[in-house]
Formats: sequence, C-alpha cells, structure tokens
Amino acid sequence: MKNLWSEKEAKGLTGLDLLVYRSRLIGQEPSLVLRGGGNTSLKHQETDFRGRAATVMRIKGSGADLRTIERDRFPGVRVDDLQPLLERNEMSDEEMVAYLSHCLLEPGSPRPSIETLLHGFVPHPHVDHTHADALLILTNTVDGKRHVEAVFGREAIWIPYRRPGFRLSCDVAEGVKRNPEARCAVLEKHGLITWGASARESYDATIEMNTRAEKYLRERGPGRQVFGGVLQEPLPSAARRAVFTRIAPSLRGLLSRTGNGAAERVVLGFDDSAGVLEFIGSEAGPQVSLAGPATPDHLLYTRARPMFVPPPPGGDPERPENIDALKLAIARALEKYVAWYGVFFKKHASRTTPKLNPAPRVILLPGIGMVTAWKDAGSAALVGEVYRHSVQVMRGAQGLGEYRSLGMKDSFEVEYWPLELYRMSLAPPEQQLSRRIALVSGAASGIGRAIARQLAREGCHVVVTDRDQGGVEALAEEINRQSGSDRALALAMDVTNEVSVEKAFDAALLAYGGLDILVSNAGIAHCCPIDLMAREDWERSFDVNSTGHFLVSRKALRILKEQGLGGSMIFIASKNVLAPGKDFGAYSASKAAQNQLARILAIEGGPFGIRVNTINPDAVFEGSRLWSAEMREERARAHGIRPDELEEFYRRRNLLGVRVTAEDVAEAAVWLACDRSAKTTGCIITTDGGVKEAFPR
Ligand code: ZN
Repeated sequence: MKNLWSEKEAKGLTGLDLLVYRSRLIGQEPSLVLRGGGNTSLKHQETDFRGRAATVMRIKGSGADLRTIERDRFPGVRVDDLQPLLERNEMSDEEMVAYLSHCLLEPGSPRPSIETLLHGFVPHPHVDHTHADALLILTNTVDGKRHVEAVFGREAIWIPYRRPGFRLSCDVAEGVKRNPEARCAVLEKHGLITWGASARESYDATIEMNTRAEKYLRERGPGRQVFGGVLQEPLPSAARRAVFTRIAPSLRGLLSRTGNGAAERVVLGFDDSAGVLEFIGSEAGPQVSLAGPATPDHLLYTRARPMFVPPPPGGDPERPENIDALKLAIARALEKYVAWYGVFFKKHASRTTPKLNPAPRVILLPGIGMVTAWKDAGSAALVGEVYRHSVQVMRGAQGLGEYRSLGMKDSFEVEYWPLELYRMSLAPPEQQLSRRIALVSGAASGIGRAIARQLAREGCHVVVTDRDQGGVEALAEEINRQSGSDRALALAMDVTNEVSVEKAFDAALLAYGGLDILVSNAGIAHCCPIDLMAREDWERSFDVNSTGHFLVSRKALRILKEQGLGGSMIFIASKNVLAPGKDFGAYSASKAAQNQLARILAIEGGPFGIRVNTINPDAVFEGSRLWSAEMREERARAHGIRPDELEEFYRRRNLLGVRVTAEDVAEAAVWLACDRSAKTTGCIITTDGGVKEAFPR
C-alpha cells in the first residue's frame, strides 16, 4: 500500500488541520475504509468557552466521510470526562450516546462517532481506525489469530470479536495496557487500530501494517480460481445489460412489495464488473457468500446474506421465454430468501423485537451480474461498492485458508443493534418523492426543465430527456450538484422515434431499475391558418404532440404494469385543448388528441393503480422554446396586437390577471406525481390564471 504522506503538503499544518490532512489521506484509499467508514482522532490541548485549558479529543463525527472531511466534522470531546468510564464494567449504547453528548466541548457540534471510546481509551495522542481489506482477510480466516501473529508478532494486540460498543473499547484499553510495546490492535472480523505520538507516526503505522499484511497474502498468494471452477460463464456485455433491463421492473416490484410497498420501494443498481461476475459464476462463490458478511460495517450495508438466483437452464437468455423463466427463478429465490429470513429472525429475536423488512439488498445473477437495491441510487451503488470489498475479502480468505464470516448470531446482533435502529430513527423523514424515479420528456428548457428541477427537490430521481442532449446534460449536472450525484440522468430522446424511445427507457432502467412517474411534456407549436397549412406541418405536429406521447406513455405503461407498484403519468397539454385559438389548428388538434390519449390511459391504467392526469397551462413564456420570435409574431398577428404586447395580453386575458410561469406548472406536476393526489386520475388541472373559455367540462 502506497504511503501518500507528503512533508511538503503537511508542512505548516498543525492540530486539527493536520488531522484533516491525515484523515483525507486515509479516506482516499478505498482498500482502507469503506465510503463513510473508518475514523481518526487527535487528543490535544484547547481552551473552552471560558478560556480554561482542556484536554480535548477531536474525533470524526458520525456520518462524515474521511475522503472529503472538513474541520467542522470533528466534534471535540473532553478527555477528562472519558477517563472515569474506564472504571465501569458495563454501559449500554444508549447510555454511552447520552454520556458522550455531555462531554462535547461545543454544544450543537456533530454527534461523535459510535467508535469514540475506541479512540478515547487508547492513551496516545493520534489514533486511526480502519476496516482494511488486507487485515480483514487475515482475521476472517480459519486460524485468523495465527496469521495475525505471523505477520505482526508482538507488535499487534489481538482482540477477539465483539460487537462494537463500550465493552469492545474496554477490551482494546486493557490490551494496550498489557502490551505497552504494541504498535496496533487487530480487531477480529472488524479492522485495525493504530496510534502514534505524531500524526505522521499513526498514519505510517496504518500504511505499514497494511503493507505487511498485503505482502504476507501475496507470498501465500492464492492461484486464481479460489472459488473453484467456473459454473456459469458471463454473457457478453450487451446481453447482460439487455437481460437486466428486461427483468428490472419485475425485480424492483417484487423487492419493493416485500417491504412495505410504496413506503419501502427500492432503487436498483447494476454491477457486472469482472471480479463480481467471476465470483457469482464460480462453483464455490455462492456457497461462500451464504456464510455471512465480513464485519459489522459490511453487514449494515449488505445485510446478512445476498440472494442468489440459480440460472434457469439453457438457450439464448434474451429470448422472451428465457426472460420469463429468469423472472420466475427470481420470484422463487425471493420466496426462499424471505422464508430463510423469517427463520433467522425467529431464531435470534426476542418476543418484543420488531421485524425489519426482509428484502435482500444484494441479488446475485450468475452470468449477468449483481443487482443492489436500497432507498436511492447512491445507496444502491454504495451497497455494490461494499459487496465488491466483501468479495475481495472472501477471495483472499479462501486463498489463505477458509473464509470465516460474522456468523448468523452476530449478524443478527448487529442488524438489530439498538444503537443502529436508534440512529435510523433519528434520520430525517424521507421526502415525498424519495425512492421514486421519474422520466421527463422535453426537459432541456421551459416547463419540462422546471418540473425536473422541482421533482428532484422533492427527493425524486429524474431521467431528463430531450432532443437537445447538451441541454439535458447541463440540467442533470445542476441537479446532481444540488441533490447528490446519481440523482439525475441525461439522455437524448426523440419522442417521435420508436428506437430512440426504447433506448432511452432501457438506459433509465439500467441506471435506476424502474419507473414511477412519467412527465410527457415534449411538444412543438405551429401557427398557420388551415387553408394555408401544408400537410407536412399538420403531420409534424401530430408526430410530436400526439404520436410522441403515445410512444413514450406506451413504454411507460408496460414498465409500470410489470412493476406492479402503481404509478403516475402527467401529460402537459395546453389551454388550447379546451379553448382552441385562431390559426392554431395543428397545435390545438394534436394537443386534443394527446388529451384523449391521457383519458384512455387513465381508464386502462386504473386497475393497476396507474394514475394519468393532464395539466393545461397557458402562455408560459419564461425559458420556453415554444415561443420563438416567429411564433410570437404570428400569435400577436392572430390576436391583432404587437409582439411586445403579447405577454401583457395573455396576463390580462385571464381571470386572476397573472403571468403563468413554468414553476407554476411544476407545482401542479409535483402534486400529481406524489401520493397526495392518490385519488385523482383522468383529470385536467389548469395552470392558466383562469381562462373561462378553457374551464374543463
Ligand atoms: Zn470499526
């Protein structure tokens, strides 16, 4: 493992700044800590709010990520308050959390890491705690202790497995006291603790211990095929993805319904990297994976077991009957998984333990890849990342001897760890559109863009599509910057082209695994009296404003039905549907066809919980591409006014005397998208300031 310390960069840094520097060095090495995992600390002198000197430990705050951590994510804990705890024999997690909140130097600082006492009880100024892969390979093997002794001799203290918490911190404290010469502690099925008199010394020890473990593993290096022979060769890349997109909606539906339906629906991630495929397709891999997770940290992401789906027999996997066979195999595997979870729960739970959602987060499909499922795309990706580390550990451990996991009793203890459950209960309530996936057409500008932004703000994943790829890419970048990477996906889509529509939906399924909301918005406007209109112009309007909506909603309907989770389709039509305007024939007629399509969809979708509604806006100028200079001129002529009077003309025309904006339309769209409108379908909502000729009737 490479030592990244640079004297040049560290020069001049002291105290907390140096801790930030060291923490980021550790955080950027993925084989040292899982994303968001590991923690670092510093004990030094500070002054409190009254100017008194105090020995303070700066420790990573709960939930911070070492890779990007800043100074303010290290709460200060008074060391004098921690010392008396060494006298105690027991302390519950809740008590520990409450106690630590009293030790904070500044009220209101972030909650210190759950592993604070591990650091606090080590009598050295600088402490690093990592969950490094190489170390875990040593400890998660039959004879783990012997391997650790062979690598580190008396330099490491061996700490037998215990669930993180007060007692484990005491074990470490006692170990360090008995072995003052030791340079680190190795926690069985958990990780490594190093320390030093200086920041550099602690960091160097982390890197050195890992490098030594890696060298040891290399020397005893396994040949390839530690998981036995190959049972299932991977399909070619395009076929893997094609199969995944075909099964994704039904898989997402099944997993979501295993939980609490809408409230616990999941977003899927897909990973078909070489290491994962080799593991899933191997003879022994599936069996090894059933043994359980490597550490408590891994378990909190991947749960106790992945779900393994035995491949259905033979033939071209892309053929419809084979896709159906695979879906059936998945449904059976899930039934078995849930039954297993029931037994697992019953065996270890007390009578008062409330059962968690039994759905798996990791699904292994031999030859195809790994599917991960959690509350949003970022979390699903993180589960994948953690499972790839798990495979690394299993591979290494199998090469060294035989993989030893946490075991089911310990797994249960961690999964139902009161502190974790308590931490989950403290998480802010989910947003009204979190766990949902929307596709918006015509999203590069105007109404489509405003709706996509607003959906994202409400927690939704958004697939933003348009013929203008640059436009949607800029929008996706903006949303991802504000709402977290993985939340928006930009795709080029021409709604009039069947192939383009299919491709875009497939890409959306590959990214998120399903769909909940369709905003069918893309449209064009053409202005011309009927007697002068060319047939092509008439047809072009129908292509985009009617057929385009048909192609997009037909595909969406197929996905929503297969998913079985209901859904919401929102059509952006026009005031012209109900009150057509002079010289606006092609536009008004094609928009009226779109409206009728929406009503039919409401009728056909109803039995499946799929709601379909229409919004009729009027005269939304801001950011709109519909209102070209030419269009303004023509509409002004039709109304007998000057083009610069147009916006004012439309404002005065409506009952409320207001200008209608894209954001006004987005408000209505969000309401129709979410469960607050659960009983509304086949409806038209107007956002036109009130045009009495266009009242729905
Ligand atoms: Zn830990």
